[in-house]
Amino acid sequence: MQQKTPPVAPAAAKSPIDPVKLDKLAEVAIKVGLNLQPGQDLFLTAPVAALPLVRCLAEHAYRAGAGLVTPIMSDEEVTLARYRYGRNASFDRAATWLYDGVAKAFSANTARLAVVGDNPMLLTEQDPAKVARANKANSMAYQPALEKIAGFDINWNIISFPGASWARQVFPAATEKTAVKKLADAIFAASRVDLDDPIAAWKEHNANLRKRYTWLNKQRFSALHFSGPGTDLTVGLADGHEWQGGASKAKNGIVCNPNIPTEEVFTTPHARRVSGHVSSTKPLSYQGTLIDDIQVRFEEGRIVEAKASRGENVLKKVLDTDEGASRLGEVALVPHSSPISKSGLLFFNTLFDENAACHIALGQCYAKCFLDGANLTPGQIAKQGGNKSLIHIDWMIGSGKIDIDGVHENGRRVPVFRQGEWAQ
Ligand code: ZN
Ligand code: ZN
Repeated sequence: MQQKTPPVAPAAAKSPIDPVKLDKLAEVAIKVGLNLQPGQDLFLTAPVAALPLVRCLAEHAYRAGAGLVTPIMSDEEVTLARYRYGRNASFDRAATWLYDGVAKAFSANTARLAVVGDNPMLLTEQDPAKVARANKANSMAYQPALEKIAGFDINWNIISFPGASWARQVFPAATEKTAVKKLADAIFAASRVDLDDPIAAWKEHNANLRKRYTWLNKQRFSALHFSGPGTDLTVGLADGHEWQGGASKAKNGIVCNPNIPTEEVFTTPHARRVSGHVSSTKPLSYQGTLIDDIQVRFEEGRIVEAKASRGENVLKKVLDTDEGASRLGEVALVPHSSPISKSGLLFFNTLFDENAACHIALGQCYAKCFLDGANLTPGQIAKQGGNKSLIHIDWMIGSGKIDIDGVHENGRRVPVFRQGEWAQ
């Protein structure tokens, strides 16, 4: 007797993730996030749990005329196996050959898509020294490819998938199914794919962000001054800095939205003109470790004192990565009323948490955040105050209690934020 074919569709329907919205997320990633062009190749990375999304992405990419779609998938258990059983010497190594190939692909105008969705706390229980060594080896191997991303040579995009282990972290009290559904809904809302016409919604959102950064670019502030509980910080802005936000044009001429979601307008601080002290307003989830209650003091752009109530060792190791790791590479403004902030959730994921609050980033600056940035050499960028480092780590310093003044060259101050909201 021939057995009936096992029902495939009902099993898929059991997923708490709405398949229609998941497909819309893929469409937004390809059409808005990447704006993938006919004939353009696509390199994508994703956790294995995100396979349903990766399939939708491949479909939308090929329907948009993609050349070749090449996915590379990661797995939490494979990552953990390395920490449990890997030889000590292996923690100073990385797959350089792979990253060299990635850099080569970027040089050939391949677009880059990253799907994030792994457990952000995956490595919490592992030896922090090994985590730091592996991260450093990885950062060094990735550098030639990362330079092309940081230099915005090509169109790139990051989106998220509600993986179960991540969802359990965000909603520890819920069952796994409920947690995944809640995280999926939060991702869909923040990515604007729960709206009837997500593509039109992104167009409008991009126009609003443009209005904000255009105003900031007209002001040409020489510094921003942040004040609030535990914070009195002057962030000098780089010479010839340019504010950006939402959609922007990569050097290959393609207008894309690198982050989905995004609520920030951001620019390059001057690596040698930051002074005062600042406290974090949300925990920073850094490659598996939670760093909480960060308090640092800057002198002439460099962090000279750093404390954290949790994860202080990891923070200090991060600051020691290289000369630029204790200087700023980004300052970003996000109103306290942003949808992600209003969700009240801590996502343990920078892509979301940085869009809930004003933030600063340690490390590498973005060349595109300079006037005529595409034509500046690394030497010119450094001279104008752009920072260089193997790392780029955003951490949150905004809240409903933060005021920000824009400071002009002549000392004149203009309110930019009051109580966490745009003052203009
Ligand atoms: Zn940012
Ligand atoms: Zn950043």
